[in-house]
Amino acid sequence: MSITFDSLALSEPIQSALRSRDYTVPSPIQEQTIPFVLEGHDVMGCAQTGTGKTAAFALPILEHLLKNERKRQPKSPRVLVIAPTRELAIQIHDSFGAYGKQLPFRSEVIFGGVGQNPQVRALQKGPEILVATPGRLLDLIGQGHISLRTLEIFVIDEADRMLDMGFIHDVKKIIRELPKQRQSLFFSATMPDSIIELAGTILRSPKHVEVTPPATTVEKIDQSVCHVASDNKRSLLTEILKEQGSGLALVFTGMKHVANRISEHLTKEGMPAAAIHGNKSQSARVRALEDFRSGKIRILVATDIAARGIDVKGIDLVVNYDLPNEPDSYVHRIGRTARAGSEGRAISLCDEKSQGLLRQIEKNIRTSVPIDTTHDFHRDPQPGDRDEKRSGGNRGGRGQGGRGQNSRGGNSRGGNSRGGNSGGGGNRNSRNRRRPGRQASSV
Ligand code: AMP
Repeated sequence: MSITFDSLALSEPIQSALRSRDYTVPSPIQEQTIPFVLEGHDVMGCAQTGTGKTAAFALPILEHLLKNERKRQPKSPRVLVIAPTRELAIQIHDSFGAYGKQLPFRSEVIFGGVGQNPQVRALQKGPEILVATPGRLLDLIGQGHISLRTLEIFVIDEADRMLDMGFIHDVKKIIRELPKQRQSLFFSATMPDSIIELAGTILRSPKHVEVTPPATTVEKIDQSVCHVASDNKRSLLTEILKEQGSGLALVFTGMKHVANRISEHLTKEGMPAAAIHGNKSQSARVRALEDFRSGKIRILVATDIAARGIDVKGIDLVVNYDLPNEPDSYVHRIGRTARAGSEGRAISLCDEKSQGLLRQIEKNIRTSVPIDTTHDFHRDPQPGDRDEKRSGGNRGGRGQGGRGQNSRGGNSRGGNSRGGNSGGGGNRNSRNRRRPGRQASSV
């Protein structure tokens, strides 16, 4: 039997905010984390976005503020949350606003890429809660606009992504600014050694909470892989999205210019889309996300970094137009669908240069992704396909030596009956759509 929110020691204004959002049952990460945070423990949480992690820390933090009232001080937040991207920071800030809407506390969010003056003015008003990306936070600390001396609770969210994005030095500098006496909460979707080491410098006798083992794919997602020649990927994507009809779709590309090109192409094809990536201005990113959230556009084409932390309800479909270089990213990407217990689909396009990446992913999630052979562009993987190496190298290696980059022979192209029909655009008549024949992709 699941527990309900009523049984957690949260005050009525918070309970009421939860009721108004129709939250009745805490998610597993909330059930585990909330009591520890309320008791004042440090927490090390292994959880992906989409598991309800934000409320897992935001609710007990609001409760702490409520139970320990203190006069508001300019520039001196009581709670600091750091997050790797602007989008995630905004979402966390919005969540504090939603869960704390009946409480007298202020939350502010600061991030780079926009003018600092409105942020500085907001800090003067003494928000209890500050959500920040690392660079702008350090800038404003350096200029004397923020003091962390009286901080009570420090949260680091998506720590693994923080390191992937090269924020390690910034994070270390921020840690040096924190008072010794504090409560620290540390969340990461994966727990490689580098993360455990970083957590060791932040946390004191932490309680460990974990909702899914690292790199386990969200169970409710209907995953499939389409083998396709790289030249046909765009046509296949167009076909997939046309068939999907309504519902929101998030498409991931490896590179920014590809994201632009795809979104322009889809728009021309009568499916209005927007691209979101690190080269887009903050206002363009916010607009694209708002249009997507509101359903004004049905398709968002994103690179990994920009998409990290996107929490949009109603994404039915995630398409990996390019497979991610890092196997862990696969889990994050497909986790954008099937949010908060709903169901979703994830389709990955795997071309002749991506067979190795697919194998890495399958090894990582410890299962095979079923192959969909029913689309018009199916191409059987060829024995020579699989030794590609993409630039950037970081394929989840962490120096463990030979994580199956190549070789591993065996079983190539197995499972995939249909034969023939390689490349080209053949087989225009296979219209009984996209329920993948559940075959193991043992290329
Ligand atoms: P997060 O992992 O924090 O990004 O949350 C994922 C989504 O789940 C968000 O849209 C939340 O609003 C939603 N959510 C979080 N906790 C619950 C809950 N206990 N019941 C229903 N939805 C929730």
